[in-house]
Amino acid sequence: MSDSDQNNSKSNSPYSRRKFLKQSALGLGAAAFMPFPSLGLSRSAQEQKYYEKWLQIKELPDSDKLNIALVGLGGYSSYQLAPALQETKLCKLNGVVTGTPSKEDRWAKKYNIPEKNIYNYETFDQIADNDDIDIVYVVTPNSLHPEYTIRAAEAGKHVISEKPMATSVEDCQAMIDACNSAGKKLSIGYRLHFEPHNQEVMRLGQKEVFGAVQQMEGGHSFRIGDNPDIWRLDKELSGGGPLMDIGIYAVQSAIYTMGELPESLTARTETNNARLFDDVEETIFWELQFPGGAIAKGESSYSQDANFHRAEAENGWFRLQPAYSYSGINGETSEGPMDFPQVNQQTLQMDAFADCILNDKETRVPGEMGKRDVKILMAMYEAAESGQRVTLNW
Ligand code: NAD
Repeated sequence: MSDSDQNNSKSNSPYSRRKFLKQSALGLGAAAFMPFPSLGLSRSAQEQKYYEKWLQIKELPDSDKLNIALVGLGGYSSYQLAPALQETKLCKLNGVVTGTPSKEDRWAKKYNIPEKNIYNYETFDQIADNDDIDIVYVVTPNSLHPEYTIRAAEAGKHVISEKPMATSVEDCQAMIDACNSAGKKLSIGYRLHFEPHNQEVMRLGQKEVFGAVQQMEGGHSFRIGDNPDIWRLDKELSGGGPLMDIGIYAVQSAIYTMGELPESLTARTETNNARLFDDVEETIFWELQFPGGAIAKGESSYSQDANFHRAEAENGWFRLQPAYSYSGINGETSEGPMDFPQVNQQTLQMDAFADCILNDKETRVPGEMGKRDVKILMAMYEAAESGQRVTLNW
């Protein structure tokens, strides 16, 4: 079936290819993305084409790329960010900050990092004298994001902080203030804002392609195992349980479907394994109320698996499942399946930030967004604690 046949056969469909392309081109400017159905391209060629459309940029020579130093070389740095930085076009991995001496040599060899760009947490502030590092990416346990973000800003570096931005709204504000005072940019590691299926959810919801969204449901959960000593179960370091870690994605997807902020919420926690979950919640359920009356129900747990986002609108529905994974995101609407390439989300996220620095643009995932979300998460804990509806004042 040709494109025009498809358009004819679906001429009344809000999800027709023609309407989609028109809306993409008109509505989303430089960040517009297009599906690449049936072009006969291999997956990697599709990704390449997608990438070029996305940022409309060409790869810089290595010497002109912005240099990133990762702070905290745990799972996310090791298995996602460092590999993604081998594919970035505007920035590259050129420094690390680690508290584990054995990692220094290993990372230096593996990623060809000069010795002078390797720091520990005590020597970290000397990074101020190192012109070879432009961006510091904070990938430590949650409650340490503020300290390293502020130290990095004071050292004159742009900063990416992992999510959740911090464990209190006050800390988020201190991070924003430090970066503003230093004249440096701050963004949050919200990779899904650079993922095409999630981008499509933003478009379908915000542009009311199926009419106004009335109800949403989201869930993000995984089984955390039974080691009580990990930082994710230590409130001092994590700020809370699955909500802080992964539930935040389901809260975000509700907000970016609506394109507006909730005005009130309720929440309830549940703990079955009190031995393991003596400091943070095991499971949390919530309901966000949006100004026009739409409701988003959500759930996040450390003792089951879930990964989805669904939205019911006046004239149709759309959903992602899995919605929040690093790859394999799958989308469907009441008009049929979504057809977008899989991309390296972290590569796009870091290159987009480098693009903001190089061309003095605003990041689409700024510190203010991280603070906004921490305010909602804290309100959810307050609601769970009190059993009362909490109103959010924006
Ligand atoms: P991890 O436990 O694998 O690694 C944490 C790292 O921090 C380790 O290298 C550890 O040595 C170091 N660290 C420094 N000070 C520490 C301290 N006082 N106590 C414990 N560890 C300390 O965790 P991770 O999964 O890499 O998560 C790190 C951050 O990245 C978290 O904020 C998490 O929310 C975020 N994260 C984001 C994503 C995403 O998709 N954006 C995915 C995973 C993790």
